[in-house]
Formats: sequence, C-alpha cells, structure tokens
Amino acid sequence: MRRFLRPIFLRPLPVFFTPTCDSSKQFCLICCQKGSQLASNGWGKLSRVPQNPVSDQDSTPVTEMASSDFLVVGGGIVGLATTWHLANRFPDATIQLLEKEPAVGQHQSGRNSGVIHSGMYYKPGSLRATLCRAGKLALENFCREEGIAFDICGKIIVAVDESELARLNNIFERGTQNGVQCRLIDQAEMRQLEPHVAGIRAIHVPEAGIVDYPGVCQRLSQKITALGHQVRLTSQVVGISSGEKSVQVITPGESYETDFLVTCGGLHSDRLVALSGMKPMAKVVPFRGEFYDILPEFRSLCRNLIYPVPDPSFPFLGVHFTRMTSGHVECGPNAVLALAREGYSWGKIRLGDLAESIAYPGFLKLAGRNWRKGLGEMHRSLSKSAFVRALQRLIPEIRSEHLKPCRSGVRAQALAPDGSLIDDFLWVTGQRMLHVCNAPSPAATASLEIGRTIVDKVDEQLKQ
Ligand SMILES: Cc1cc2nc3c(=O)[nH]c(=O)nc-3n(C[C@H](O)[C@H](O)[C@H](O)COP(=O)(O)OP(=O)(O)OC[C@H]3O[C@@H](n4cnc5c(N)ncnc54)[C@H](O)[C@@H]3O)c2cc1C
Repeated sequence: MRRFLRPIFLRPLPVFFTPTCDSSKQFCLICCQKGSQLASNGWGKLSRVPQNPVSDQDSTPVTEMASSDFLVVGGGIVGLATTWHLANRFPDATIQLLEKEPAVGQHQSGRNSGVIHSGMYYKPGSLRATLCRAGKLALENFCREEGIAFDICGKIIVAVDESELARLNNIFERGTQNGVQCRLIDQAEMRQLEPHVAGIRAIHVPEAGIVDYPGVCQRLSQKITALGHQVRLTSQVVGISSGEKSVQVITPGESYETDFLVTCGGLHSDRLVALSGMKPMAKVVPFRGEFYDILPEFRSLCRNLIYPVPDPSFPFLGVHFTRMTSGHVECGPNAVLALAREGYSWGKIRLGDLAESIAYPGFLKLAGRNWRKGLGEMHRSLSKSAFVRALQRLIPEIRSEHLKPCRSGVRAQALAPDGSLIDDFLWVTGQRMLHVCNAPSPAATASLEIGRTIVDKVDEQLKQ
C-alpha cells in the first residue's frame, strides 16, 4: 500500500542515529542551511531532533533517517519537472528531491543553448518527437503563467550550398510529419528574416523560440517547496539499496527511506543506475560544447536563431547562432570530449572519469570511426580562427574580433557498447524505482512532458 494513503499514525516512525547540530559542519540536518541546505518551507517527514542536546562545539556529523513517499535524485530540469508533477498527482504524498550542488539547474539545464525546439529533427513516432511537441506547448504555458522570459521568435535552418539541399528537404519532411509549422524559403525571403545570412535555401520554423531555462528551474523549485516538499541541496547520493518495502538512499552523513525512488542524474545517470544494483545499458560520455558571445555592437548580425543543416549521424554537431532571452547573441557549441563528467574547460580533468570514457569499448569504436570529425571539433576548440571559419559559413561578415569566449556546457551522451549514440529518451524501472537513463536535447524543451510521462509510469508501477 502506498504510504501516503495510510493514516499518518500508521506510518513507520523515523529512525535516527547520532543527533548533533553544528552550524559549521557540512552535514548538519537539524537547523543550519550550510551543508545540506534545506530549500523548503517545512521539515516534512524528517525526524525530529532527538533529546541529546547539541552544542556548537560538537563535531559529530548528524546522521538520521528521513522518510518520504517519493524521493527524486537530481535538481536539473527533468528532476524538478518530475517532482512537480508528482506533487500535483499525489497531493497527500511527501516528496524529497536531493541535488548534489548548492543550487538547482547547475549542469546541463542551466548551461544549454536556451532554445525551445519545435521537433524538426526527430524520428516521427519517437519519444523525442512526441514529447518535444507536447512539452513545447506545456513549457510555453508554464512560462506564460509564471512570467518567465520566453520568445517565440522563429528560426531558420540554412543550406549553404547544393550539397546540403537533399538533407534540408529530408528535415523539412520530418518536421512536417511531426506536425511542425514550417516552410521552405528562398534566398530572398531568408535575407528578409536574417539580412546577414549566406545560403541558397532554408526552412523557416516560426514556432521555434528561446527561453530562460535557469528561470524555469528556479520557479519549479519554488513551486515544489511552496507545496510543502523539500529540495535538499548539497546532497550527493552515494548509495542506494532496495528492500522489499522501501528503498534506502544514502548521502554523506544522511540516510533516507522512500517508498519510491526516481533518479534524473544527467551526466551521472549511468552511475545512479549502477549504484542501485542494476546494470546500465549504456555509458555516459561527456562532450563539452563551448560558446562565444557576439560583442553588443555586432549583435545585429543575427536577429533570432540561425542553424546549419545537421549531419544526421551527429545531429548535435554544427555551430549555430542563438539570441538569448538576456539579449546576448551566442555562437556555438562545438563538441569535444570533456576530461571530466563536469569538465567545463580543458583544465578541468578527473583522471577517473577520463579513464572510464577512453577505456569504454563504445567510445573506442565511436572514436575509431569518426576520428576526423573529432579532430575537427578539437581544432575548433583550440583555435578561435577555426571556430570563426565555421561560423562564417552562415554569416560571412562575422570576424574574430566580434567575439569573446563566454561559457560552456557538457552534454551527457549515452553510448552503447557498440559505439552507437543513444539518441532517444530512455528510462528503466526496477523494484520501487525508475531511472532516467538518457535525456538528451530537446529534454529541456520537453521537460514538463517528460516529467508527466514519468509520473504516469510511476503510477502504473504503484498499481501493480
Ligand atoms: C551545450 C548544450 C546545449 C543544449 N541546448 C538545448 C536547447 O537549446 N534546448 C533543449 O531543449 N535542450 C538543450 N540541451 C539539452 C538539455 O539541456 C538537457 O537534455 C537537459 O537539461 C537534461 O536535464 P537533466 O535534468 O536530465 O540533467 P541535468 O540538468 O544535468 O541535471 C542532472 C542533475 O542531477 C544532479 N546529480 C547527478 N548525480 C547526482 C547525485 N549522485 N546526487 C545528487 N544529485 C545528482 C546534478 O548535479 C544535476 O543537477 C542542451 C544541452 C547542452 C549540454
């Protein structure tokens, strides 16, 4: 029986271990917001402070068991959207979200291109296509209701020469099959939309847009806590054990018990699957994408969104121009192997992560087949002029002095052991748990619909 359906007095009493409180310590659970910060308006089902009085001098970390009906790992946009849907679907349930960083949306969800994708590229009938279409509408409604910045400004996908026309037409057909409002336009119309662009033909997608994804993450977190649930920051999950009646989740110094666990770990999604005792079907290999910012006086070179025709085998490759909701115009990203799961620069190296990537048979196969492409991406990462040359295919007037490096994001690329890229959304279920194993682009666009779909799955599992 689901715990939140039981009367409160029948619920198991929480277990607690070493009670202390020291506001200078990392693992304080009881009163301070320092180590494991509590972004909540209440303690929910966290056990009470035991009698043992606590002093500021006490150095023992607090360890106690907090229990909940649902526990979600990962405060990216997918974990937040899932938690929010759980809270709406099960209004009497207690829910905790654990995020290892000191704030939500610090990785892919806060470092992406900020685009609301329309569903042009994805295989008709795939989860990516269907969830992107529904998620886009849900996201726009959410932003409208919550006053979050977004703009349905439209985008163009540009064929720069004859060799790209067949692929452009294929994308147009896919987009049409996916129900996207789009049309093929000639050079004259293209120039009306984007006067500085070079190309011979394009697809205009008026329903594509831009949005403030970090703002969406923040608002979801606020809404979750406003409903009385907990978003616990600086809480890295390091252990998961599944029993017949509950799942135990461990962070350094804390222990949680939940009726149902959902993990949405982005760059660490495979590790969370492994922690729970299941075998991940793919490994996450991190690829860094670097961006340049166009200086304010040259921003008029791009009005909205200008994209190249993607290579169907590597749809995430190919630098593009993106107006952000902040008014900045960014160019990028490229894609190079990151030397750590969260390796946002060449200097950020974690030998363990790197060894794991390069020793993985899937990576070796991918690299062996595509070493030329890989070298090209590395060249564009290390040489600004090579990066600028790639941009000049779309806007010939752009110059190196118009650009300054700005930020980077790391993509969680799920790779199968045979070296193939896993490109659709993917989740696996286990006893009392569901793991989101792959949530690539457009998962930010689709996040609210992904969250709703995951909650449907959880509901089904609970009814079995
Ligand atoms: C460069 C780039 C550009 C992109 N552009 C777009 C775009 O324009 N539009 C679009 O729709 N999509 C885009 N995407 C894709 C999109 O951003 C991601 O698909 C989406 O953000 C994935 O969300 P997530 O919540 O699954 O992952 P994340 O945002 O990475 O969140 C996962 C969270 O889990 C936490 N976590 C991991 N392990 C643990 C643990 N053990 N304990 C506690 N917490 C843990 C992490 O700290 C992190 O906060 C882009 C991605 C990149 C990298």
